[in-house]
Amino acid sequence: MYGPTHKAGAVASLRNIKTPSKVAKLVMERSGHVLLVGEGALKFARAHGFKEEDLLTEKAREIWLKWKEAMSDKDYWLSPDEKKIMAELRPYIEHYGTINCLAKDGAGVLAGVTTTSGYAFKIPGRVGDSPIIGAGLYVDNTIGAAGSTGFGEANLRTCSSFQVVQFMGQGFSPEESCLKAMQVIAEKARLQPRLLNEDGLPNFGHSFYAVNKKGEYGSAGMWSGHRYAVHDGKENKHKEEAYLFKRKK
Ligand code: ASP
Repeated sequence: MYGPTHKAGAVASLRNIKTPSKVAKLVMERSGHVLLVGEGALKFARAHGFKEEDLLTEKAREIWLKWKEAMSDKDYWLSPDEKKIMAELRPYIEHYGTINCLAKDGAGVLAGVTTTSGYAFKIPGRVGDSPIIGAGLYVDNTIGAAGSTGFGEANLRTCSSFQVVQFMGQGFSPEESCLKAMQVIAEKARLQPRLLNEDGLPNFGHSFYAVNKKGEYGSAGMWSGHRYAVHDGKENKHKEEAYLFKRKK
């Protein structure tokens, strides 16, 4: 999404293209649309010279096979050791690959991108928050830019990147705005018991990132213990995210 034109481009359910965010940028620059999906997105990518590649790695195939085998003891996929395998898979289930990147240049131009392959083991056809403008990303050149990683459905249900930008528009700092949008997500999670841990708190990780028109920036997580990367024009650094809840040791 590009601040000065308030144009956005996105693709979803696009298979076999290694750099979907570049296709999304072309949707913004070379089409009058915002979101292309599936076969249409692939044709658009091909028309612009993108090459199709098999993106399935051997490691991902093995992880998928183990997951398939360990999912149920009532089907015909048999697992050598279900408990051990589920423990082995946990990092792949709980860690996702999304990147949100926001930028402000010297002339005050704001822009942002969010890119992901989405959750592992989702239902085929599922579209997450990353390509949905307002959910996984939002830019308003007069106010600021925001984006997210984490539980996409929570962003889709609360239009949260849009909310972060609106909070900045009301005068809250980027960090405060991230925390306020996170609070909304935590409150809404209370309506769904399956999203809560044994203490009644959200059982998922989530992060927001934001930068405002002045170049002030901030980030907040649902849980403590996360960092984000910033380049302030002089140097690259890691900063601690603010958070709603402190993780138990
Ligand atoms: N937000 C992404 C999704 O829901 C996942 C992630 O951030 O890793 O697909």
